[in-house]
Amino acid sequence: MAIDLRSDTVTKPSKEMLQAMFDAEVGDDVFVEDPTVLKLEEKAATMFGMENALFCPSGTMTNQIAIKVHTRQGDELLCDTNSHIYNYEGGGISFNSGVQAKILQGNRGKITAEQIAQNINGDYDWLCRTSLVSLENTVNKAGGSMYRLDEVKPVSHLCREKKLALHLDGARIFNALVETNESAKDWGSQFDSISICLSKGLGTPMGSLLLGNKEFIKQARRVRKVFGGGMRQAGYIAAAGIYALDHNINRLKEDHRRAKELRDIVAASAYVESVLPVETNIVIFNLRAGTSAADFEKKLSAKNLRVSVFGPQTIRLVTHLDFTDDMLADVKKIIAGL
Ligand SMILES: *Cc1c(COP(=O)(O)O)cnc(C)c1O
Repeated sequence: MAIDLRSDTVTKPSKEMLQAMFDAEVGDDVFVEDPTVLKLEEKAATMFGMENALFCPSGTMTNQIAIKVHTRQGDELLCDTNSHIYNYEGGGISFNSGVQAKILQGNRGKITAEQIAQNINGDYDWLCRTSLVSLENTVNKAGGSMYRLDEVKPVSHLCREKKLALHLDGARIFNALVETNESAKDWGSQFDSISICLSKGLGTPMGSLLLGNKEFIKQARRVRKVFGGGMRQAGYIAAAGIYALDHNINRLKEDHRRAKELRDIVAASAYVESVLPVETNIVIFNLRAGTSAADFEKKLSAKNLRVSVFGPQTIRLVTHLDFTDDMLADVKKIIAGL
């Protein structure tokens, strides 16, 4: 059987999660009548101390709905150059909202209040209206790097002062929280909206949640319908989310331990030039001149190890719920034997 480190989205639901799905009470969620969806939304909102939540099929949809609600056509948003919303959502910022992004060069995906302040446009007819700032935590493309709450507070303060909306793409927010021991409620108090993914490290088959205040979620619900994301008996899927929030958060630490072991394994390989610092469950490394990422991926694939090509010389590995210590031992042998 192949060992799959391409992403933490490759996990399959456990027997216990499937049982919870099987047992779910359901109703029509477009009529706001699915008790399990409502329970999941309330549970997640409460965790982050936010008023309400909206269950959506994907993290792309929760991010894109947030952008749509926080902006008007012709506006500009500010985000780091590594952002998922900018790189990996099919141009949705312009496609869905008619908004452009001003890309900031942060430190491993993290931008500061000073950088943001310097890039807010003045009130002139010929400049875009700056209306939204989006942060990501952890930052996927920067190797799973994470913000500390103390770094976010000045950003939040600035956004409030300048009347900009502040969104968090928290696809992997729980990976950060289990490392820092910071509280979800403290994070919730800094943002106007937060997107969290259930289908990454938490191991559900699908689903993301958008969190915000009542008025924001009311508008988000309307946009979700327009985007085609209104679901009917979605409680079967929401039940997996409730199971995941109850059982799969603390164990993310194991994924982080295995990621650090993987870092040491790849750093020891003669093919590897450098490895980005590993803070959570993502390991990104660059290959020495002479080996392309595509060739390296093929070599590993032939030995039943699946990895992601992340650039011409760059490979990404992601640890997850279905990656065990036995598999880690096999990866060590495979990489040492190249
Ligand atoms: C995976 C991911 C998303 C959402 O992806 P979907 O596949 O649409 O659920 C958003 N942001 C980040 C940082 C991600 O890694």
